[in-house]
Amino acid sequence: MITLTSLDPRAPLVLDTRELSRRPGSQREVSLTVPAPAELGIEVLSVPEGAPVELDLRLEAVMEGVLLTGTAQAVVEGECVRCLDPISDDVEVTLTELFVYDDARDRDSASEDDEVSMLDDDLLDLEPLLRDAVVLALPFQPLCSPDCPGLCVECGANLKHEPEHSHEAPIDPRWAALTGLDAEASSSTTE
Ligand SMILES: [Zn+2]
Ligand SMILES: [Zn+2]
Repeated sequence: MITLTSLDPRAPLVLDTRELSRRPGSQREVSLTVPAPAELGIEVLSVPEGAPVELDLRLEAVMEGVLLTGTAQAVVEGECVRCLDPISDDVEVTLTELFVYDDARDRDSASEDDEVSMLDDDLLDLEPLLRDAVVLALPFQPLCSPDCPGLCVECGANLKHEPEHSHEAPIDPRWAALTGLDAEASSSTTE
């Protein structure tokens, strides 16, 4: 027995498919802009919460349910993993999913196969699909530019902004001491 939380028809990412009247072949184009839900993306790169997500979708009734196809577009913000500079970019993802009528298959088989997206009272929840698509589209190691030189390992200076950055060869105090001993040793052997 599984409990399905019922969807809120007013939620921005819940679409109503009742207009299609479950008539196979009937379809509807949907273009809308919705505010991004929280944490849409990955830790280092994500769509800011509330930022506009542009959706261009087509809903088509088929025998088993409603086939959704289309695209989603949004800005993503994050930081470069090498130099920590802020990154701002666009992400565009393709969405394709069959949402099966919840009364078209019995709940027991649905619980065995939780990969199937279901309609709930002919309402469709776009959020899980959008999340998966956006996460898959984002680079796990975002860079401000493909050849970002990163930070100086010694002082943390941003090498992109300071291409001439370098340090004097450090003089390790132990080496300095050895050089001194060496000089003494060699001078005593010549005596
Ligand atoms: Zn960078
Ligand atoms: Zn440095």
